[in-house]
Amino acid sequence: MEVSINGKKYRLVLGFEIHLELSTKSKMFCRCSAEWFGKEPNTTVCPICLGFPGTLPYPNKKAIEYTYKIAYALNCNINSEFYFDRKHYFYPDLPKGYQITQWNKPIGFSGSLELISGKKIKITRVHLEEDTGKLIHKQGKTLVDYNRAGVPLVEIVTEPDFDNLDDGKEFLENLQLIFRRIKVSTADMEKGSMRLEPNMSLAEVKPDGNIDLPDYKVELKNINSFRYAKKAVEYEIERQTKLIKNGKRPIQETRGYNEDKGITVSQRKKEEALDYRYFPEPDIPPIKFDKKELKKIKKTLPELPIQQARRFIKEYFLSKDQAIILTKKENFGKLFEETIKELQQRNKGLNQETIKQIANLIINSRTSLKNKNDVLKMLDDTQKKVNFDKNKISATVKQVLSENQQAVADYKNGKESAIMFLVGQSMRKLKGQAPAEKIKELLISEINKAQ
Ligand SMILES: [Zn+2]
Repeated sequence: MEVSINGKKYRLVLGFEIHLELSTKSKMFCRCSAEWFGKEPNTTVCPICLGFPGTLPYPNKKAIEYTYKIAYALNCNINSEFYFDRKHYFYPDLPKGYQITQWNKPIGFSGSLELISGKKIKITRVHLEEDTGKLIHKQGKTLVDYNRAGVPLVEIVTEPDFDNLDDGKEFLENLQLIFRRIKVSTADMEKGSMRLEPNMSLAEVKPDGNIDLPDYKVELKNINSFRYAKKAVEYEIERQTKLIKNGKRPIQETRGYNEDKGITVSQRKKEEALDYRYFPEPDIPPIKFDKKELKKIKKTLPELPIQQARRFIKEYFLSKDQAIILTKKENFGKLFEETIKELQQRNKGLNQETIKQIANLIINSRTSLKNKNDVLKMLDDTQKKVNFDKNKISATVKQVLSENQQAVADYKNGKESAIMFLVGQSMRKLKGQAPAEKIKELLISEINKAQ
């Protein structure tokens, strides 16, 4: 999207950082339960995740495998050998005073994800780290709960490839579906399992229609719904537009979104990587996965929702909306194809109309259709009903014609309005259960037949 400011055009440059908690049983570097949500504060902790001196971290293999799965799903290049880094900063929710993360050698890098339109969004990196604790602000005091500290967390970073919010929304929703489909996370935004950080700026459009990336970007922190992500970015577009209009330049900074007021508030001017003093984690040796192991992980990936949707459009000529809804739930897509296959085997009644009917039945049923036999039965009922309706309409039309000979004669003599009278009579008998256009068509065809 573009905005016009003081006679010049500016284009939205938008990217995302996504944090995802993995649904492993235990934490990233200790054996504490990773299921922290709703638990009594500070009950799923141990000396390792509390950062006591003298403790040693012990990496969770499952979490590493899940991160490879995500990297593969996002078409990334893979580092089969990697190590962890320490990222230093001081904050009460970080008991060690540093976070174990990945800096120079992320598990995945240079990937991409296609939107339904075919547009490719570039994925910069996919890396594995540990979550922090949680600060709870209550009655003017701040409490800290370390249950979440050390939960495996994957960070996914995109290139600033978005120029509109609709693509952004589609991408994020699709990511959530993928995480759920490959079973690495609940990706539940309300519980903070999936957290969004949009980053954006406005770039001046050059006469040739291209842009240079601006020398600043604003990062919007820890947003927990697609709706708020959209609102926060919209607010920023407006704020930055005003600044540029007044001859000022927006600056590089991190801003938080205030849900109640619908505004963003500056939190800090952006740190440079240098400030974090990254260095390789000395307590964990480098980790290597061999080709066989990686192949095994890659093989566990199912067909992903967007691929499935694109295939459904191509193979079954479904509409984009139908394909998207049908592939959102794993069992919907499966049920759809099983039913189609069954009909193909029986070698009957599989035209485009039937395929569409099957898709709609499954979509509208929500979850009441359990297997292909349920769908076929429902399809049968629907087709019978359609035939029944057709017969009923046709009988009614004939009856109306025989009861209103005068109107028929009038119509034949060129009185066009007589047909609308007959339509009205038919509609009344059918209690409005058939479209007027359809009735009119039938009436005219019956009158012509009788001549
Ligand atoms: Zn622990």
